[in-house]
Amino acid sequence: MSKPKLIDENGLRVDGRRPDELRPIKMEVGVLEKTDGSAYIEVGGTRIYAGVIGPREVHPKHLELPDRGVLNCRYHMASFSVDERKPLGMTRREIELSKILREALETVVLLEEFPRMMVDIFVEVIQADGGTRTAGITAASLALADAGIPMTDIISATAVGKVEGTLVLDINEFEDKYGEADMPVAVAPQLNSIVLLQLNGRMTVEEVERGLEMAQAAIKKIREIQVDALKRRYRVEPEGLEA
Ligand code: ADP
Repeated sequence: MSKPKLIDENGLRVDGRRPDELRPIKMEVGVLEKTDGSAYIEVGGTRIYAGVIGPREVHPKHLELPDRGVLNCRYHMASFSVDERKPLGMTRREIELSKILREALETVVLLEEFPRMMVDIFVEVIQADGGTRTAGITAASLALADAGIPMTDIISATAVGKVEGTLVLDINEFEDKYGEADMPVAVAPQLNSIVLLQLNGRMTVEEVERGLEMAQAAIKKIREIQVDALKRRYRVEPEGLEA
């Protein structure tokens, strides 16, 4: 199959977006009953549930740390989440992404506040259409906040891609597959700190810098949606205050 056209004569992308446009995003906090904290996120066709359990006793016991808590993270894609059924069980990619997500989230979780305990974070991709690691981190931070896990900030993330020489925000699966590069970025906005930065493909230094600026601007919007989702979950209605 010849390479499809990714940017049309009007400078628009395959799904009609401008290069700096995010896909429609929906978030909801507190969506699962059997977890201590949970969140759901939709970014275009990507759909993910995040669930948090803990803090609880560490199992297996030898992983327990005397002075701080342990974060455990599992990123998993449902077999039906992709076009070609993904093999059952954890693939190498999922094991790697579990580690990447944990390392990003560890930068904001105050582990010293729960020594000898562990917190499990589950990221379940129900439908994948690009950007699952970034949407997964965004949802996981909401689930951690919902579980009341002490944190210095909430992480927000998106990916910048390069297609036909143009930098594009929040790439979808098609652009990821046929484009030249994919750069996931996760930020702790209050701390002004980049907690995850990867680059798959090739970009010049100038493109990376511009891409980071695009991602930072988008992350402000993503954070607003996260804060709104948390407020919807925890808003106390005036009647509730009076009762
Ligand atoms: P991310 O989802 O964070 O962008 P990748 O760059 O590895 O991670 O994957 C890009 C997209 O490719 C995914 O979002 C998904 O839509 C698709 N994809 C990933 N793994 C598979 C797979 N095993 N089978 C089919 N499609 C996949």
